[in-house]
Amino acid sequence: MGMNKLEVLKKTFGYDSFRPGQEELIDGILAGRDVLGIMPTGAGKSLCYQVPALLLPGVSVVVSPLISLMKDQVQALNAAGVHAAFLNSSLTENQIQKAIALAARGRYKIIYVAPERLMTPRFQWLSHEIGISMLCVDEAHCISQWGQDFRPSYLAISDYIASLPERPCVCAFTATATAQVREDIVRALSLRDPLVKITGFDRKNLYWSVEKPKNKTDFCLSYVRKHEGESGIIYCSTRKNVDRLYGILRDERIPAGRYHAGMEQEERVRSQDDFIYDNISVMVATNAFGMGIDKSNVRYVIHYNMPASIENYYQEAGRAGRDGERAECILLYSPQDTLINRMMLENKSGNEQMTPEEARTVHDQDEIRLSRMEHYCVGFSCLRNEILSYFGEPVTEPCGNCGNCSREYTERDCTKEANAALSLISSIPGRYGQNLIAAALHGSKTKRIEETGLDTKPCYGALSSLSEAEIRDLLIQFTDLGILERSEDQYGLFFPGPRAQEVRDGEKVACRFELQAEESTERPSPRRKKASASSETTVLTPEGNELFAKLRSLRFLLARQRSIPPYLVFSDRTLTQMCIALPRTKEELLALPGVGEKNLASYGNRFLEEIGTYLSDYAKAHDGARPQTTG
Ligand code: ADP
Ligand code: MG
Repeated sequence: MGMNKLEVLKKTFGYDSFRPGQEELIDGILAGRDVLGIMPTGAGKSLCYQVPALLLPGVSVVVSPLISLMKDQVQALNAAGVHAAFLNSSLTENQIQKAIALAARGRYKIIYVAPERLMTPRFQWLSHEIGISMLCVDEAHCISQWGQDFRPSYLAISDYIASLPERPCVCAFTATATAQVREDIVRALSLRDPLVKITGFDRKNLYWSVEKPKNKTDFCLSYVRKHEGESGIIYCSTRKNVDRLYGILRDERIPAGRYHAGMEQEERVRSQDDFIYDNISVMVATNAFGMGIDKSNVRYVIHYNMPASIENYYQEAGRAGRDGERAECILLYSPQDTLINRMMLENKSGNEQMTPEEARTVHDQDEIRLSRMEHYCVGFSCLRNEILSYFGEPVTEPCGNCGNCSREYTERDCTKEANAALSLISSIPGRYGQNLIAAALHGSKTKRIEETGLDTKPCYGALSSLSEAEIRDLLIQFTDLGILERSEDQYGLFFPGPRAQEVRDGEKVACRFELQAEESTERPSPRRKKASASSETTVLTPEGNELFAKLRSLRFLLARQRSIPPYLVFSDRTLTQMCIALPRTKEELLALPGVGEKNLASYGNRFLEEIGTYLSDYAKAHDGARPQTTG
C-alpha cells in the first residue's frame, strides 16, 4: 500500500497524532515483536492493532469476547473504508459461510472472531488458506483466573496459535493491570519476550470530583438540566435506584432512558440504541450498562452511589469523554454508601470452590479496595493523583483540574487529635487498620475491641466527641500529611509516619474541612477557582455553541439516514474544532482532527454548507461581522 503509520492514522482514522503508548506498541508490532498493552478503557487500544493490521501483509485476526463490540468495531472500520468482518454466534450459518468464502478470497484485512470459533474446522481451514500475520487478543484479562472476567474459551487461543503453519506476531490488550493478571496473560499466550507497555491512565480531559449533596436526586436533576442536550450516564448501585431516578427524570420531561439486568432483553437493547443514537441524552443504569459500548461523546458520568473499588469506578467513569473533549466524572458520596458497601461485602457468599483461607483473602482484598475507594471520596488530596497512584503511575504536582484541587476549604487545628492517634498507634504499630483504630479512639466497647485489648491502650476513647466516621476521615488526612503511614498490603495497617516525630515535638497540625455553606446542596458544579491551564479543551462562546448545536443536529440527521451512531459521522471534538476554525473549504476541513478522507467525502460538503449558511446569516444580522466562536 505504501502508506506509513502516520498516513494510516490520518487517512483512515482521521487523527493527527498518537495517544500515549500507541506509537510504541504499533512500532513493536511492525517490528515483528509480541506486545502486551495495558491501557485503560477509552485510551485507544483498538488503534494499536488496527494501524499495524493495515500495514502488515496478509490478514490480522482479532479475538474478542463481546459480540456487540465486534460489531461496532467492524462497522466503524467499514465506515472508514477498511474491509473487515466478524465471525460470531450472532451470524446465521449462511452469513458465516459467505464471510469465510470472502475471507478466503482475501477480501478482509481484519477478521474479528469469537474465541469459541478458533478451533472449528471451518476457521481452521480458513487459517491455513490465508496468511495470518498478526493475532491480536483483545480484553486479554479474560484468559486469567485472577481477572474479574475469566472466560475458559480464551484458553483455546494458545492451541490456535500452535495450530497455525507459521506463528504470527501475537499481541494482547487489556485495561486490567494487576501484576498477577499480567503474568498470567504472558504465560497463557506464551508471549515471546513481549514489549509490555502500561500507560494512559491519566485522562487529562476528564474533570474528577466528589460531591456530597444533601439530596442526590436534586443534584442530578439540576445537573442534567444545566447540561441539556449533552449525553451523560448516571450509575446507581441498585435496580431500584435506577427505576426511581429514571421515573423522576421522565416526570421532569428529561429525555432519559434506563438500563439494568432486570429489564427484558429487548427493552435493554432499545434503550441502549436510543442512547448511542442520541435519541435520549441521559442513561440511568446499573453497572450492567456500558461494557463494550464505544460512544465517544458522553460528556458526564455521575455516580449516584459509591462503587466498591477504584477499578470499578475508573472503568465506569472512564466512559466519559472518549473523544478527548472535556467531560466530568462526578461521584456523589454519602457515608451511607460506605456502610452499604461494607454490608454487601460481609454478606457476599463465598464461592463454594474456595477454601476458607482463599475466601478470607478475597474478602480482605475486597475490604482494602473499598477503603481505598472511601479514601478517594473523603480525602482532600488531588483526585487525579489518587487514581494515578492507585494504578501505579508516577505522580508529581496536584493536577489543578479536579474537584479537590479547586475546592475551597476551611482549616482547623487538629494537633490534639493527631497526637492522640499517634500515641495509640505508636503503642501498637502495624497491628490494626482504620476501622479498629477509629473505634478505639472513639472509645467503642465492642467485643472485637475487648478481644484485641485496645481498650487498655493509651488514648482509648480520647476522641469520644467525634464519630467513628469523622475519626476515619482524620486518619486519612493524617496519612496524606505523612503523620501516619499505612501498609501497602490488603490490610492497610497503621504505623507512625515520617512526620510523626515533628508532631510529637509540638508542630501544629491543620486539617481541612468542607465549607459548611448553604450552597452545598445547590451546587451542581463545584465552585471552582477557575479551572486551570492544564485543561487542554476549548470553551465556546454562545455563538460557538449555537453553531455547535446546528452541526450536532446535522450530524444526527446524517447518522439517522445511514443508520449509524452519530459519533461515527464526526466526534464532538471535531464538531467543536469546526466551530472554532470555521472552515470554508475541503482542505481546511481536512486539516481538523477527526476528519479523514472517508468522512470528508461522505459528509464534508453538508457540514461546509451548514457552516457557510451560519456565517452568512450571522453577517447579515451583524453588519458583515464574523462571529466570535471561542473565548
Ligand atoms: P479502548 O479499547 O482502549 O477502550 P478504543 O480503542 O475503543 O479504546 O478507543 C477509544 C476512542 O478513542 C475511540 O473513539 C477512538 O476512535 C479514539 N482514539 C483512539 N486513538 C486516538 C488518537 N490517536 N487520536 C484521537 N482519538 C483516538
Ligand atoms: Mg477496546
